[in-house]
Amino acid sequence: MEYLELDGSRGEGGGQILRTALSLSMITGTPFVIERIRAGRKKPGLLRQHLTAIQAAQAVCGAAVEGAALGSPSVRFKPGPIRAGDYRHAIGSAGSCTLVLQTVLPALWFADGPSTLRITGGTHNPSAPPADFLIRSWQPLLRRMGVTLAIELLRHGFYPAGGGELLARTEPVHDWQPLRLEARGELCRQSAIGIVAGVPAEVAKREMQRAASQLGPLDEALRVLPSNEGPGNALLIVLEYPEVVEVLSAYGERGLPAEAVADRAVSEARRYRDSGAAVGEHLADQLLLPMALAGQGSFTTPALSSHLKTNCEIIEKFLPVSFICEESSRQARVSLE
Ligand code: ATP
Repeated sequence: MEYLELDGSRGEGGGQILRTALSLSMITGTPFVIERIRAGRKKPGLLRQHLTAIQAAQAVCGAAVEGAALGSPSVRFKPGPIRAGDYRHAIGSAGSCTLVLQTVLPALWFADGPSTLRITGGTHNPSAPPADFLIRSWQPLLRRMGVTLAIELLRHGFYPAGGGELLARTEPVHDWQPLRLEARGELCRQSAIGIVAGVPAEVAKREMQRAASQLGPLDEALRVLPSNEGPGNALLIVLEYPEVVEVLSAYGERGLPAEAVADRAVSEARRYRDSGAAVGEHLADQLLLPMALAGQGSFTTPALSSHLKTNCEIIEKFLPVSFICEESSRQARVSLE
């Protein structure tokens, strides 16, 4: 079979192009070669997270791989048959465990039996889904699509130390169900989760108070972790609707007041809340691949992000699907018929 040629700098030009290619290469048996990986990013080429995703994919399907080294701008990947198993991988930095998990899980839905996947690294990283997002937002929607999945956060890991751990149990999917998320319904509950590790609890309390002053009354949950899991601080805002749960996040940084951290998460939450769309910007690009595997589905989202458009393009190269993306001034809609 010929290698599918991919340009890693196209569109959004991030690691997602590689990760989607890995998942779908395993599932479809299509070998690929990717050049100019993350060419426009500050540190181009493969970072530890991307390298671990390749190694994790290789372990699952016994792929023949060339170019899998830190900083490498290109990779050749020829997959073999997907095998169920108990897999463990360490990113070795605060690189995102959730992104590695999202790369390999789809392949395990096509394996010959149940599997477990244990990844160590970062679990709460800026620019990646926090573990709580996977568990509360992404996982329930996958279950509605017919996926058996249980993700556990065993230990938190923050930038730059990492050291967090996620465990996922999954099984082959026998009956894919289309997901239709046109409207989210009325807000049932809003809450804030303030997480601190090696940082005073007062910081998380101030963040949650600020979020409540901006968003209205919300349930507050303080998560004080052992200081050896840190240092780290995150604020998660959880918006629960009948059809969907959204988790908006922001992270503490040295020199950034707690109120400013809260304001970042609040502005994300407001943008989603005010749009009236069913699915937030990040969840949208993460639902495309499962939706394509189900062969049908639709959702509304605030706007068509470049992550979303690029991911549609890559998926369409591997699978015989064609996403319909429509955008109006207030909302966008993505569907697959
Ligand atoms: P780079 O952009 O440096 O290549 P990368 O490999 O980490 O980095 P991207 O291609 O940018 O990854 O993809 C990041 C993924 O993380 C996307 O699916 C995006 O929707 C998701 N993501 C980013 N921020 C959040 C967030 N706050 N909540 C949930 N998901 C997020």
